[in-house]
Amino acid sequence: MIEVEIDANSGFCGGVIRAIRAAEEHLSEYGGRLYSLGAIVHNEEELARLEARGLVTVSAGCLPDLDRGPGEPLLIRAHGEPPEVYGRASSLGYSIIDCTCPVVLRLQKDIREAYARLGGRGRIVIFGKEGHPEVLGLVGQAGGDVLVVQDPEQAVELVGGGALRTDRDIELFSQTTMNPDGYASLCAYLRGSMKPGARLVVHDTICRQVASRHHDLAEFARGHDAVVFVSGKESSNGKVLFDLCLKENPRTVHVQSESDLRQGWFRSGDRVGVCGATSTPKWLLERVAAAIENLQ
Ligand code: SF4
Repeated sequence: MIEVEIDANSGFCGGVIRAIRAAEEHLSEYGGRLYSLGAIVHNEEELARLEARGLVTVSAGCLPDLDRGPGEPLLIRAHGEPPEVYGRASSLGYSIIDCTCPVVLRLQKDIREAYARLGGRGRIVIFGKEGHPEVLGLVGQAGGDVLVVQDPEQAVELVGGGALRTDRDIELFSQTTMNPDGYASLCAYLRGSMKPGARLVVHDTICRQVASRHHDLAEFARGHDAVVFVSGKESSNGKVLFDLCLKENPRTVHVQSESDLRQGWFRSGDRVGVCGATSTPKWLLERVAAAIENLQ
């Protein structure tokens, strides 16, 4: 007998819910197709559901070549985009449905303001994944004049090699979905490295929904015999949260859907926890939980 419990705190974050709702409302009202700049959610199952309703995922590079009518709607997902993408889309005649998460919009604005404040006398540093769509949008707020640091070890290398000067002011931000412990380590390292007279300003920009999920998920993982973590392979938040679960519970496995489940993972009498990333739909968690129960 296996007991299965779904983590009540897992499922889409507010930003993803808002973007998907906007897409569904548009498709219900106007029908036809709706272009989305990049995947609206890093989850193949949910994406397939929305694509069946008319959502078409496109890249910024192909905007000039797309079949389009006057004022063709173009959805910008929760991650946001750099300013030049808005300019290019508008000049091509697209009408933008901007679903950038309000938390990300605030972070973009804070980076613009910090960049103006520094006026070339310091450096903006972003703790984030190089090339992640949200990070590209953030970097664009300062015209690309930003250092992206993926982990504290990279910061040590950058400071040691002189690419990141600690005798000048630094304003530090984090991508919204990064690991709070990693950010705390990076802050502590930079704080200890600043030269007299130079200031380090740390901006608390990890999304509250993500930060609280870290704490709750660690507890959830510890409280079960085995954990099944469900997320798309492209989800950056999924990688971070899966690693967290694995650290707390070595019997954690990652699946994209119920078809990845293996009978040998579970033992009779196990209490199995099913959880996921901010991009994992609740309906998929329920499907995976039901499939685990059916393995018995
Ligand atoms: S994780 Fe937070 S900041 Fe990022 S889209 Fe979701 S609600 Fe917005």
